[in-house]
Amino acid sequence: MSATPRFRSVLDRFVAYKPGKTVTGPGGRSFKLSSNESPYGPLPSVLEAITEAGRQVNRYPDNSCSELIAEIARHHRVPEEQVTVGCGSVGVTQMLLEAVGEPGSEVMYAWRSFEAYPLLVSLSGAAAVQVPLRDERHDLAAMADAITAQTRLIFVCNPNNPTGTVVGAAELEAFLDRVPADCLVVLDEAYREYVRDTDVSDGLMLYPQRPNLVVLRTFSKAYGLAGLRIGYLVGHPLVAAAVRKTYLPFTVNSVAQAAGIASLRAEDELLERVELTVKERERVRGALLVQGWTVPASEANFVWLRLGEDTMAFSAACDAAGVSVRPFAGDGVRVSIGSPDDNDAFLAVAESYPTRN
Ligand SMILES: *Cc1c(COP(=O)(O)O)cnc(C)c1O
Repeated sequence: MSATPRFRSVLDRFVAYKPGKTVTGPGGRSFKLSSNESPYGPLPSVLEAITEAGRQVNRYPDNSCSELIAEIARHHRVPEEQVTVGCGSVGVTQMLLEAVGEPGSEVMYAWRSFEAYPLLVSLSGAAAVQVPLRDERHDLAAMADAITAQTRLIFVCNPNNPTGTVVGAAELEAFLDRVPADCLVVLDEAYREYVRDTDVSDGLMLYPQRPNLVVLRTFSKAYGLAGLRIGYLVGHPLVAAAVRKTYLPFTVNSVAQAAGIASLRAEDELLERVELTVKERERVRGALLVQGWTVPASEANFVWLRLGEDTMAFSAACDAAGVSVRPFAGDGVRVSIGSPDDNDAFLAVAESYPTRN
């Protein structure tokens, strides 16, 4: 009898995170629109900071990330004790769930939403409660109705990945009023810099009056540092301190810390790039509507096509042209906004596709 090592039973049901793929089309052309990345490389000043930090990687990074936290705090005009950083906002999400999740507790989120939520919730030992979207948007009333005495944390992804939709200020506040004070609400604002709808509240304005509200931000999207892995939360000092306890030593490396600081100092230049992406988003959606597609208005750097059973066929048509998109089988396809050339390549596929959604 050969015994095998024993693992947690959750692993039997666990589907590992599937990152966006890259495909190559005719003539070796490749348009990567599958991971919501910035199409632009690092700014010269950021690259310089990265190179400079590289000279000292024989040393451990600053475990408390004090300069990076100070820069973030200065940038948002919040106290440093209210900021906690992690290995991407996915890393911060894992820290949050380690801080609250245990068998018998519940964590709620809308579905479909960010794929990392179910994965990290199941690993934390908490039970996942998924509340279906309604017209591609968070159904906050249904989410409030689904709160139980066991609910410890609720994600609100605003704008929502992968639909790009937002919740308005009034409905968010009405929802927050219904959440018990002992349950955390995590407002995932990974795409905040792309929001142009003035009816969407900024979590950083809301959390000071709401001790159970936490705001998640990342350097991976608008700041173009996806490869370096830095995210952070801003929240009440008690929450920030609890989450900080779960920080795996040295997870935000020294090169990432330097790049994060340099990026905040180059914010004006980076936000010009964000503006270009927002313009492209409107151009891409407008062109798709003219082609006859149904596309919800997006406040992020991607658009969503609900395709149902046609999802994988549409994704295969994109693959064949070297355009990688993010399909969610049976549901729809998320297409990131890239450079104008990337977007044109995608629009050409959509135009020639034989049916519409
Ligand atoms: C991309 C994304 C993140 C950011 O992840 P990082 O770990 O910071 O790269 C967080 N939340 C959502 C909803 C996202 O789409």
